[in-house]
Amino acid sequence: MKDETKLVVAGRDPESNYGIVNVPVYHASTVLFDSLSDLQNRFKDRNDGKQAVTYGRVGTPTSWSLENAVAELEGGYRSQIFPSGLAACAHAMQAFLKAGDHLLMTDSVYGPSRTYCETVLKRFGVEVTYYNPLIGAGISELIRPNTRIVFVESPGSQTFEIQDIPAIADKTHKAGAIVMMDNTWASPLFYKPFEHGVDVSIQAGTKYIVGHSDVMMGLVTATKEAWPTLQAGANLSGQTAGPDDVYLAQRGLRTLSVRLKQHMENGIKVAEWLKGREEVHSVLHPALSDHPGHDLWKRDFLGASGLFSMRLNKLPKEALAAFLDDLKLFGMGYSWGGYESLILYADPSHSRTATNWDNTNPLIRLHIGLEDTGDLIEDLSEGFDRLRAKL
Ligand SMILES: *Cc1c(COP(=O)(O)O)cnc(C)c1O
Repeated sequence: MKDETKLVVAGRDPESNYGIVNVPVYHASTVLFDSLSDLQNRFKDRNDGKQAVTYGRVGTPTSWSLENAVAELEGGYRSQIFPSGLAACAHAMQAFLKAGDHLLMTDSVYGPSRTYCETVLKRFGVEVTYYNPLIGAGISELIRPNTRIVFVESPGSQTFEIQDIPAIADKTHKAGAIVMMDNTWASPLFYKPFEHGVDVSIQAGTKYIVGHSDVMMGLVTATKEAWPTLQAGANLSGQTAGPDDVYLAQRGLRTLSVRLKQHMENGIKVAEWLKGREEVHSVLHPALSDHPGHDLWKRDFLGASGLFSMRLNKLPKEALAAFLDDLKLFGMGYSWGGYESLILYADPSHSRTATNWDNTNPLIRLHIGLEDTGDLIEDLSEGFDRLRAKL
């Protein structure tokens, strides 16, 4: 089955739900058992890795509808739901780490994931080393006997470096460690992590899976080998998400292919227009042929989402504010992956240790939504007029 078909059929179960197309919202804490043997057998099933309903926190047909669909799309064995993308990142790492372990983390990782490493993981005695996202096979020089995880995120948050994940995975596996990936940017449609050597893949479902800017959701998918460790870790720390939110996420998932293709087309159009503007220093979009990671992107990815950055030519703060503050169609706010366009100023220079980032040419991250690109370009063009008036 092709992905477009999987998006429509995966995780659904009309036979068990009166023919209802979408798996209904099961609100549950207590689940009743018929008898002592039913109680014992259902727990036995669950301990054998089967999807048996035993208690609300552990999973319901509603949560499996999303988990099974995402596992199939990512190409992994099973998925586990978390209440946010950050919870998914944090608990995926925690599930595999113990005191004295070493974690290699890409220097361009999503900021809050880095903060989790710097605070919680360090407090629990895990050593963290940040590495240049462009390191590729050179990762082997940083791997130590106690390295447990090499964490990758491609492209990097805000700065869009493309990582050579197959080269990293090769060295990591030879050293007996695992590769964990934050695969949110491409979504399960445009990057197939398990075909490139990833062992554990994370989705901030909040972004493209939900797709409508109204739900927090996280998912972690693992290989068959990594699954028991991941699932035990999630279970022991009580990870779950509310059924209404899970329902909205699986509903969003059904239209992911049409949305993502449009985000890609719109994003490339706006990125190319920005590249020709005199106010713009550079555009960081892996699908553009002059992006340093373009060849790797072409080799490994199946598409591009609607998120990229640009760097403006050096300008006074008033000019930057004049550009950003009065945009009509671009909202200023965190997150992305919804149907609407967003714009955000960011300064990655504060959160880099393995690489330098000079923000003299200020970085602006854009999420291109499903609006008409002519309208979006007009909005940005008027913004540039306001910018130039302040120079
Ligand atoms: C947004 C984001 C997260 C965190 O997701 P939340 O649902 O906001 O907690 C993790 N990784 C990446 C790359 C993200 O963009």
